[in-house]
Amino acid sequence: HAKQTGRDAYCLFDPQMQAMIEHKAGLEADLRVAVNQNQLLLYYQIQVDAEQRAYGAEVLLRWLHPERGLVQPTQFISLAEETGLILPIGHYVLMSACQQLKAWEQSESTRDLVLSVNISIRQLCQDDFVKQIKDILEVTQVNPSKLKIELTESLVMDGTSDNAKKMLELQQLGIHFAMDDFGTGYSSLVHLKRLPLNQLKIDRSFVGNIVNNPNDAVIVRAIIAMAAALDLEVIAEGVESQEQMEILRQYGCKAFQGYLFSRPLPLEEFHGLLH
Ligand code: C2E
Ligand code: MG
Ligand code: MG
Ligand code: MG
Repeated sequence: HAKQTGRDAYCLFDPQMQAMIEHKAGLEADLRVAVNQNQLLLYYQIQVDAEQRAYGAEVLLRWLHPERGLVQPTQFISLAEETGLILPIGHYVLMSACQQLKAWEQSESTRDLVLSVNISIRQLCQDDFVKQIKDILEVTQVNPSKLKIELTESLVMDGTSDNAKKMLELQQLGIHFAMDDFGTGYSSLVHLKRLPLNQLKIDRSFVGNIVNNPNDAVIVRAIIAMAAALDLEVIAEGVESQEQMEILRQYGCKAFQGYLFSRPLPLEEFHGLLH
């Protein structure tokens, strides 16, 4: 029995482990060609103000796999990060997002929309990240202040690193930065002091419990008050009910995103939602 012949043997012959490794290897091979074969799709989730007017959207990636169908980012983003594939994928997302922003600028009804794009810390760590963004802005001729970059908290981020300098340089061009999933990382408050941020995005785990859990309500209220004191914008993600929105509004939150307004949608459907 493989299990009794030692740890290495266990890893090699455990059929479940073997299946998982094969699954991952298959997915990785498929992901390698996904960008070139146009299998990566940008979905758009609407963001609204306190009057429930649309002012922008977040781009959320989907993978239309030829056999598996629509694959969610939770199934492939971490694999893309491990393999480095997030670099070409992330570049593609940024370029596509800016092309979309440019297209929206051409029409009266979509002219003022802003767009949030998630980037991985690995993208920001590239030496030429600032140049990549500048090139994309130049090619697409997008107004940089329409672009918001969402970052998730990570240990790699400290104020002395090149990353903070890169962010500052991009912020001086007009690009905005949001800290995504705010409140879930253990060094959130350190980041507030060290990074050039424009917005905090309250994690949906707090928003989801705001009605029933007094502790989460207190935390959300504190985040909103702190953001105001630090002159940062704040947006709540994962808003699913009118009741949640009311409480958030009472606490002073002015921007909202969640299934209450819409799920992330393909471009055509997103346009339908706007009109
Ligand atoms: P995120 O940036 O925090 O995005 C919000 C996630 O919450 C999205 O999941 C969205 O579909 C989901 N969501 C929005 N409203 C609600 C709601 O009311 N209730 C619930 N339960 N969920 C809601 P999604 O699209 O599966 O994306 C998951 C994560 O994958 C994102 O979390 C982001 O970290 C990552 N991701 C997505 N697209 C990209 C990308 O282009 N690049 C990178 N680096 N990461 C991406
Ligand atoms: Mg995000
Ligand atoms: Mg988030
Ligand atoms: Mg998240």
